[in-house]
Amino acid sequence: MFADKTGSAIQDAKNAQYRNERVLAIRPALDRHSEPFIISRRVINGKPRPDLKFPARIVRTRAEFRGIIRDPMLSLLVIEEGQFFPHWIVPELREAQHVRRRDKFKVVVVGLNLDYRLRPYDPMPAIMAMADKVKIHTGVCMCCKRRKGRYTQRLQGGAAQNQPGDFGDYEVRCRVCHYIFGEASPTT
Ligand SMILES: [Zn+2]
Repeated sequence: MFADKTGSAIQDAKNAQYRNERVLAIRPALDRHSEPFIISRRVINGKPRPDLKFPARIVRTRAEFRGIIRDPMLSLLVIEEGQFFPHWIVPELREAQHVRRRDKFKVVVVGLNLDYRLRPYDPMPAIMAMADKVKIHTGVCMCCKRRKGRYTQRLQGGAAQNQPGDFGDYEVRCRVCHYIFGEASPTT
């Protein structure tokens, strides 16, 4: 989706670095765009353009994640594509909230709350419930170009829930213009 979720998190990370805080960004290995960085894009004249970029570590296992989150020097952890992490991320974050309750330690999770069928991605409702602050970013519906868009419209591919894609595979749509790919026809 193009609602600038990642751009906002990258700005948080850069601001923390300016304050000389230790910052780490991570992303799951599942994402096919598993490059060692996260990048935000802006849509200009209908095409996505790279905007902000930040180095990121790819995390493959629960043990690896636990090692990162327990680092007492780490003050900000940015988790990109949070929806693609397995459910173990929930108990790990809950434990970190407890273990590091006296530290100046913050986790920013960027992720989609709903899949293309409007079903919640497994870890996201629990992560949102545990969060001190939840910010739902919206874009402009790319179909009607009028209403706020917060749903993911799949445009091609199969029926799997986890099908990482890019511009052309998905677009942001409003409640009126969204339809479930593979089940119904667009209404506009
Ligand atoms: Zn619309």
